[in-house]
Amino acid sequence: MSLVGKDIKYESNAFKTIGVLTSGGDAPGMNAAIRAVVRAGIFHGFRVMGIRKGYNGLIYGDVTEMTLRSVSDIIHRGGTILQTARSPLFKTEEGLEKAMSMVKIFGIEVLVVIGGDGTFRGAMDLSKLGMPVVGIPGTIDNDIGCTEYTIGFDTALNTVQDAIDKIRDTAYSHERCSVLEVMGRHAGHIAISVGISGGAEVVVLPEYKADIETDVIKPLIECRNRGKRHYVVIVAEGGGSAVEISDIIEKKTGIESRATILGHIQRGGSPTVRDRVTASLMGVRAVELLKEGRVNRLVAMTAGKITDIDIKEAMEIKKEMDLKLISIGKILAL
Ligand code: ADP
Repeated sequence: MSLVGKDIKYESNAFKTIGVLTSGGDAPGMNAAIRAVVRAGIFHGFRVMGIRKGYNGLIYGDVTEMTLRSVSDIIHRGGTILQTARSPLFKTEEGLEKAMSMVKIFGIEVLVVIGGDGTFRGAMDLSKLGMPVVGIPGTIDNDIGCTEYTIGFDTALNTVQDAIDKIRDTAYSHERCSVLEVMGRHAGHIAISVGISGGAEVVVLPEYKADIETDVIKPLIECRNRGKRHYVVIVAEGGGSAVEISDIIEKKTGIESRATILGHIQRGGSPTVRDRVTASLMGVRAVELLKEGRVNRLVAMTAGKITDIDIKEAMEIKKEMDLKLISIGKILAL
């Protein structure tokens, strides 16, 4: 019987042993979420097993019991102490079967997965095989439709903002255009936010196919004609290449232009207060769901509050770009 669907409810206290893993891209705050799951889990009488390296660890049995002290001194650390991996094998029938046999070996009755969209799709596959799951959204991209916030987003934004401020200093001194490529995979949520906080002249988003002449070159020339002498252009990685766009800007406008690809620096670092608190609250909520026997759900944030939603329903929600942010960004770049 498929366990995906609404109103899946076990008896309260039906589970005794939780498995917890982090999967996909790491995000600052994942450690705070692990800590919350372990501490709240033990507080509520669960045994908590830590699974290392995401679904790979589940397949190969890289599992150890967590204690109150195994999550000491991690709330301020980026990355994930459980480590993470991308597991192509897990996407196959063979991989799923191996994972299912391993949860039985370790007596894991319910799984808490911390990760992004791919991680939740994998969790849904497990739930279809009868493994109850609860997901916590952890990705710097903030690209999960069912939640307005994902753990790691704020820290990544602040890292990018720090870089923009530094680059702006040198762009000003040399009267240059700085083109910064930021992460976000197929989503432009990081790009649009730092576009506003960093005062960018132009933001190139994957959600809209940019026309280089009308969407990049023309606004930069207009800015120059209004008296600007240095420029910041943000390119979301899914929206184009900073190097190519920078070359075109220099050729077409004569403005000296430099590209910077921030890369994995955006995934590291000590989590901000927002990420630590959100991760802690989401981790506790996940354990509360397990205690109540409510599974196959994702913890989410709605209107600033911690909520939860059926996983299948959640995965059908597409995250929309906030159009208001785009129009505000354009006005403030004048
Ligand atoms: P994220 O969770 O950050 O989106 P990935 O997309 O890399 O990261 O997914 C993490 C892992 O989840 C993958 O390595 C794979 O094992 C599993 N996974 C990803 N996509 C799917 C899918 N469509 N179906 C089943 N499992 C998936």
